[in-house]
Amino acid sequence: MSEMRKALVTGAASGIGRAIAQKLVEDGHSVLSVDLDPDPDGPGSPYQADLTTRDGNESAVEAAFEEMGGLDLVVPCAGFQHVSPIEGFDADRWDALIALLLTSPFLLARYSWEYLKQSGQGQVIVIASAHALVASPFKAGYVSAKHGVLGLVKVLALEGAEHGIRAVAICPGYVRTPLVEGQIPAQASAHGMSEEDVLNEVILAPHAVKDMIEPSEIADAVAFLMTPAGRTITGVPFTMDMGWSAR
Ligand code: NAD
Repeated sequence: MSEMRKALVTGAASGIGRAIAQKLVEDGHSVLSVDLDPDPDGPGSPYQADLTTRDGNESAVEAAFEEMGGLDLVVPCAGFQHVSPIEGFDADRWDALIALLLTSPFLLARYSWEYLKQSGQGQVIVIASAHALVASPFKAGYVSAKHGVLGLVKVLALEGAEHGIRAVAICPGYVRTPLVEGQIPAQASAHGMSEEDVLNEVILAPHAVKDMIEPSEIADAVAFLMTPAGRTITGVPFTMDMGWSAR
């Protein structure tokens, strides 16, 4: 088991964030599991915050510090998707996507920076997306926010280097979570296709490898990035996209 770290994970009640919190707890780390709708029976200590607000981000960082007495790792993972053509794209949904996927990682880094400096081995591991590197139609808010957060990670890595702080943006393709699985029935009826065909021909179309990624595989990547072997990886996307961005 590696040295115990103090971690804040957002979106920790479901999907990828939950798998990351679970892996960190199993590996002996302390975790504050932040979510809009926290699971009291989930991994780590549940903490309720709306991360589309400044207060929500600030209170989550302060709760982490109060509970654990420090902070070594911040994993911004909370997210949602909104699919719409530009012409009908709801401007409030745009604001919410930017707030959660871009501004929240900034605020979490901003409010925890002093603690990450004190850690001496501080890390920010943002769960970005292949959509930080490539675009898809009808996802203007999501793609813009994810491209933006990769820029943020680069700045954090440059400013953090002298303080021993590293920053990485994990960029997965499609991961088997409620966020993706929830889209399948609607897409099946919209396309007049079976759910299996929607998965293989619509959702997995951009993957060279026609398979979903498991949440535990993202958690394993976080664990790897925390080891000494991850020392060189900072200011970059850590791409896990089944060949998507090779096109
Ligand atoms: P998910 O829907 O399973 O979990 C998202 C969690 O975020 C939920 O528990 C939800 O309650 C929480 N959340 C939503 N709004 C919030 C708010 N305002 N404040 C606090 N918490 C809030 O989704 P997931 O698939 O696990 O996605 C997690 C992250 O991974 C997202 O940033 C997503 O963009 C990214 N991602 C997902 C995939 C995928 O295929 N599933 C691929 C690439 C990147």
